[in-house]
Amino acid sequence: MIVYEIENLCKTYQGQTQPANKNISLQIYQGEIFGILGDNGAGKSTLVRQMANLLKSDFGNITFFQQNITEARDLVQMNVGYMPQESGALNNLTVSEALYFTAHLRGMSRQDARKECEALLDTWQIGYLRHQPSSRLSGGQRRLLRLAVAIAGSPPVLILDEPTNDLDPQRRKLVWDILRRLNTEKGTTIILITHDAIEAEKAIQRVGIMVSGELVAVGRPSELKAKIDRILRLELFFSPENPPTLPSDLNYHFLEPGHWQVLLQWQQVTSTLNHLNLEQIDDFRLYSATLEDLYLHYATKP
Ligand code: ADP
Repeated sequence: MIVYEIENLCKTYQGQTQPANKNISLQIYQGEIFGILGDNGAGKSTLVRQMANLLKSDFGNITFFQQNITEARDLVQMNVGYMPQESGALNNLTVSEALYFTAHLRGMSRQDARKECEALLDTWQIGYLRHQPSSRLSGGQRRLLRLAVAIAGSPPVLILDEPTNDLDPQRRKLVWDILRRLNTEKGTTIILITHDAIEAEKAIQRVGIMVSGELVAVGRPSELKAKIDRILRLELFFSPENPPTLPSDLNYHFLEPGHWQVLLQWQQVTSTLNHLNLEQIDDFRLYSATLEDLYLHYATKP
């Protein structure tokens, strides 16, 4: 069963010359965990906000369970738990009020919503915060509350924009465990944007890679990773005023001033290191490629 059918989606924000989304077509199937990877500014949040019916597209079409989402506002609202990336406070509600009201608004009776609230406080290990106003939570606590709110009332579809941002490793693990459990036990369809590629690789069944507003690859992580099987990631650290020169067949990916990443074939390693003036470089590191490197692979493709 197809949950989302997205066809030729395009979106350019007012005042921008470059489109945030270009001709995106994609299907999301019921019961899958679908990951969206891509650099900052690649158009990931724009895409999921369109799927959550929070942003209109300029062209193209999205159907949700075969209904055009622009005509199915209530259907989307009742069935999609969306967690935006920015994690502002939830009005002036306390933690337990936010959970209770969301569950009730998603159709649960008062009694069931109270039970749901207790279950969520327990699952997300935030019971000790139940009476805290959401405005007084730390970034990590607020992220957990936002996730619990997205899941309140067990919507069959979740859209999560960077669910493990702001979290320490222990809480990240909690999030991935809960998401996997929701997917296997309740069949929840989960669409998520993440930079947590190593953990994502264990949980997601399909991945979409976005580069400059385009969806450049979609597939199972193992299928896509086969393309970078013999690829290594070289990180270079140098003084920003004095960047190194790379062999002409290589492209770098800028991470921050004085820090680049370069994807290499195994057989290019020696010649690349020989080519670089190592005195110009403060440090370098070589890694085997992970799912995270997939979007680098596409982003730096000549
Ligand atoms: P990502 O989630 O991959 O980081 P976004 O979807 O947030 O990417 O952004 C895609 C592009 O659209 C970026 O160039 C960004 O600057 C631009 N953009 C995002 N939101 C707005 C907005 N509200 N108004 C104007 N431009 C925006």
